[in-house]
Amino acid sequence: MANNYIYLDYNATTPVDPRVLETMLPYFTEVFANAASTDHEAGSIARRAVELAREQCATIIGARDPKEIIFTSGATESDNIALFGVAERYADKGDHIITCVTEHKAILDTCKRLEQMGKKVTYLPVDQYGMVDLDALRKAITPQTILISIMFANNEIGTIAPIAEIGAIAREHGILFHTDAAQAVGHVPVDVEAMKIDLLSFSAHKTYGPKGIGGLYVRRRNPRVKVAPVIYGGGHELGLRSGTLNVPGIVGMGKAFEIAKSQMKSDAEKYGSWAKMIFDQLNEALDGAVMLNGHPTQRLPHNLNISIKGIESKALVAQVSDRIAISVGSACTTEQLKVEPSHVIMALGFGEDRAHSAIRIGLGRGCDEEKIISATDLITRSSQRLAKMML
Ligand SMILES: *Cc1c(COP(=O)(O)O)cnc(C)c1O
Repeated sequence: MANNYIYLDYNATTPVDPRVLETMLPYFTEVFANAASTDHEAGSIARRAVELAREQCATIIGARDPKEIIFTSGATESDNIALFGVAERYADKGDHIITCVTEHKAILDTCKRLEQMGKKVTYLPVDQYGMVDLDALRKAITPQTILISIMFANNEIGTIAPIAEIGAIAREHGILFHTDAAQAVGHVPVDVEAMKIDLLSFSAHKTYGPKGIGGLYVRRRNPRVKVAPVIYGGGHELGLRSGTLNVPGIVGMGKAFEIAKSQMKSDAEKYGSWAKMIFDQLNEALDGAVMLNGHPTQRLPHNLNISIKGIESKALVAQVSDRIAISVGSACTTEQLKVEPSHVIMALGFGEDRAHSAIRIGLGRGCDEEKIISATDLITRSSQRLAKMML
């Protein structure tokens, strides 16, 4: 990697904040005891650190009771527990789940498996901004519906769903509401009480915490949500997720959310203005060839997804890849080397060309104005070069 390399893929993952790392370090060596071994002091100290982190996680999402936080290995696992757990536990009430076409694969692949197991799943469409249609949601509800799972903010295009409205609709019908909030927690305000969220998946590594740790919020009051476990063995985490707790990871995640809470507002303003600057400069230099994917205002401040008319995003990303990290879609799609266009951009209804020319730029704490300007210049020059080659 070049030493002036610029990382702009913060929606795929973020680095661990140095303050988070510092908080974690003692828990690998000095405070290594098992947080379940509370019959000795070493274990109790580890347990107290875990419980502080549980409070920090509860605070950032507005949960009243820290017991509502279950630690997992990340949002993928939390999504699995929420969907499989509710499907199993509420099987006598119904067999229908409502979700959305633009969800993360952690939801879509789990729903596919549930369909193979005989459950029914409705995939709601989105409009040209990636916004889910609330009328379609209301119409999709049947007496068999047990769960609505709609992501808080989209990992590719940044669109923020009308979460409070969905929560109200779900509550009105007595249906549980789960949201995959991996991209939202620590970046935009999240409030499980005000938004009537019953289950919420989160992850540390999208918010400057370590990878491989996350959690699931499970409401305990009004209503008390019951979830069948997916992993058995020892009954940790109120029996919902067995396995020795990842104490350093949990402590790091708590610290990451504590930091996020204190600087979320100022960070969001900064990233939002940089995203606008990148869009405006590119669009001006490329004679109006740049189209925004996602909602113009209801969006994650640190995400920018654009399609440049006539430019193949794979070629563009490859051309700049030794100097800047941007992506053609979600990290998961990239890893599998799929040639299919993004299911999220396709769902917006503009067709394959727009999907094949979509690039995602994620902003974060390692960015500064100088880096943003030089990355924008590089994307501009590469796009101009590619446009000439196409002529
Ligand atoms: C990153 C992400 C996930 C997966 O989270 P992990 O902690 O990496 O398992 C799930 N959903 C969304 C929306 C994400 O952005």
